[in-house]
Amino acid sequence: MSTPAFQTSPGMRDILPPESARWRRFQSTFASVVEAAGYGEIMPPLMEDLGVFQRIGDATDVVSKEMYDFVDKGGRHVALRPEQTASVCRAFAQHRPLTPWKVYYAGPNFRYEKPQRGRYRQFDQVGVEVLGADDPYLDVEVIALGWEFFRALGLRQVRLLLNSLGEPEDRARYVQALREHFEANLDGLSEVSRTTLAKNPLRVLDSKRREDAELIAAAPRIASFYSIDAAGHFEAVQQGLTDLGIPFEIDNTLVRGLDYYRRTTFEYQGGTLDSAQNALGGGGRYDGLVESLGGPPTPGIGFALGLDRTLLACDDEGVFEAPDVSVDVYVVDTAGGRQALQISAELREAGFATDRAFENRSMKSQMKGADRSGALVAVIVGSNEIDAGTVVVRPLRGEDLQRTVPRDDLVAEVTKVMIESLKEETA
Ligand code: AMP
Repeated sequence: MSTPAFQTSPGMRDILPPESARWRRFQSTFASVVEAAGYGEIMPPLMEDLGVFQRIGDATDVVSKEMYDFVDKGGRHVALRPEQTASVCRAFAQHRPLTPWKVYYAGPNFRYEKPQRGRYRQFDQVGVEVLGADDPYLDVEVIALGWEFFRALGLRQVRLLLNSLGEPEDRARYVQALREHFEANLDGLSEVSRTTLAKNPLRVLDSKRREDAELIAAAPRIASFYSIDAAGHFEAVQQGLTDLGIPFEIDNTLVRGLDYYRRTTFEYQGGTLDSAQNALGGGGRYDGLVESLGGPPTPGIGFALGLDRTLLACDDEGVFEAPDVSVDVYVVDTAGGRQALQISAELREAGFATDRAFENRSMKSQMKGADRSGALVAVIVGSNEIDAGTVVVRPLRGEDLQRTVPRDDLVAEVTKVMIESLKEETA
């Protein structure tokens, strides 16, 4: 086979059946978990004014290096969304819905990253955001929803890491202490982390480089900087998670580098994944983002979960497999195909997933199609049946014999055979 002239560009993939059915089920499972808690779906556009994303913070690679931005034909500087929190906050500022505003989203984001396993340039996330409520039990609700979703997929080896960044003033004092700690020991930091330090000392804690490990381990801990309010909020979050029986580990290095984050931050890690890429998703409480996008001061909290990496974790744990996309019935028509058209329509109308052959192939070739389709029942018509006003209904599994029935009994007979076949399958 010669290589076609065009292929997907790096980091972009076609999601083909049956994997695409798994993606859709992933999103619908997420929707049912969060809709049960009163969240409604928001569908923001894939593209926004560049400024919307720049508000997330220029200190992040996502914004400073990885954005797909361009000037459109009208001279607007726009970008494909690298994440959806900023779009949700922009939408809140634009539409001013009643609070608390509880929304969820699902769909693709774009980041110009180096493609590798679990890291793509177009990747899907699902997530929730709640705007307009500042309550530790809301933090618990949000964290618990992510946890419950992983359970619904069947994942058992997810770890929940939890931290609090304190109030903005606590955080500012902490950042100063961190800066002093790292600056006093610059020789112990990797080149990359030294650059990070100049931009955002918190992000140095995210470094997974071995050279940095020792200094990070010796760095001051945010926990020593909490105000009474921040400590109380964090305590309540932990209490709530314990009440719900959700296990968590405190990790003071979990900082999420964006300036807007305060108080609660969290991350879900896949127990089976390689440690450099084991974050399935994460989130936290943020302030100021809505305000910077032209809205009123509004507290927010949310999370985003990566679909791709979560599915890799599912593969590792052998759960949430691609669903069976087989049909129920396959129609074989050796008399030209017009009968198959009507019969298929009738069976679909009756609720049976039905496929058929085209191009008036031989009986043998059509029966092969029936086998490949995974159908439990074949309905066969040829000119004899048409003349006699009958159809042949043939069970494709088990020992049952085929039967010839009046055309009018088609749906009743197929129903009968389907029920028998399903009984045998589950026996
Ligand atoms: P972030 O928005 O960077 O906090 O990412 C949240 C989650 O999205 C991560 O934990 C990953 O599961 C997923 N994710 C982020 N970037 C990518 C990417 N380039 N490819 C695949 N998944 C990604």
